[in-house]
Amino acid sequence: MKIVLATRNKNKIREFEALLAEHIEGIKLLSLDDVGILGEIEETGETFQENAMIKARATAASGYLAIADDSGLVVPALGGEPGIRSARYAGCGGSPAERDRANNVLLLKNMTGVKDRYAEFVCCIACAYPGGGGEGDFVVTGRVPGEILCEERGGGGFGYDPLFWYDELGKSFAELTSEEKNKVSHRAVAVMALAEKLKEIKRIRELLC
Ligand code: IMP
Repeated sequence: MKIVLATRNKNKIREFEALLAEHIEGIKLLSLDDVGILGEIEETGETFQENAMIKARATAASGYLAIADDSGLVVPALGGEPGIRSARYAGCGGSPAERDRANNVLLLKNMTGVKDRYAEFVCCIACAYPGGGGEGDFVVTGRVPGEILCEERGGGGFGYDPLFWYDELGKSFAELTSEEKNKVSHRAVAVMALAEKLKEIKRIRELLC
């Protein structure tokens, strides 16, 4: 079963393929480069679901079943921020590490004096069929609940991980090993839901062949 993942990032391809392979046999993920899709796909949606679907539908133009993800941090006490702007909350400049740093500084600043520190990491994965009709296209969502710490903890992970307290394991996300994070993260939950749906699609295709 060949599926295109809307990314050029080889690490992301490997991570998704490994996660999916745990649930579904014989899956092969292709990148945008593998299927000759050039240029950026603009994320013009207003929700994670919309952005994931925009990317998946653009990628399905390759003629393959396509999947795309969009994720971020949602803090209800901040009206849902950083939300879909998670990657560029404090601006677009600098290296990825500098952007992460600036985002965390801004998040802490905006949380000053806020009592309700509940937050969720959210990951939406959209799946679109080739053909572009939209029929059968779907989105799955993974969420993981936590709280925003008052200062950074831990040296692992990326993005908002050092500020995200995960009570279940009594650690910040940046204190989890990658094995631990890959079991409980919003991405892992969404990928599990995606795998269930893909198994169904695979079964139907095999029945039709
Ligand atoms: P993307 O849609 O996976 O590229 O994620 C967008 C942004 O959300 C990232 O640049 C991070 O700022 C944030 N984010 C998403 N997933 C995580 C995570 O697992 N840990 C920390 N930050 C994350």
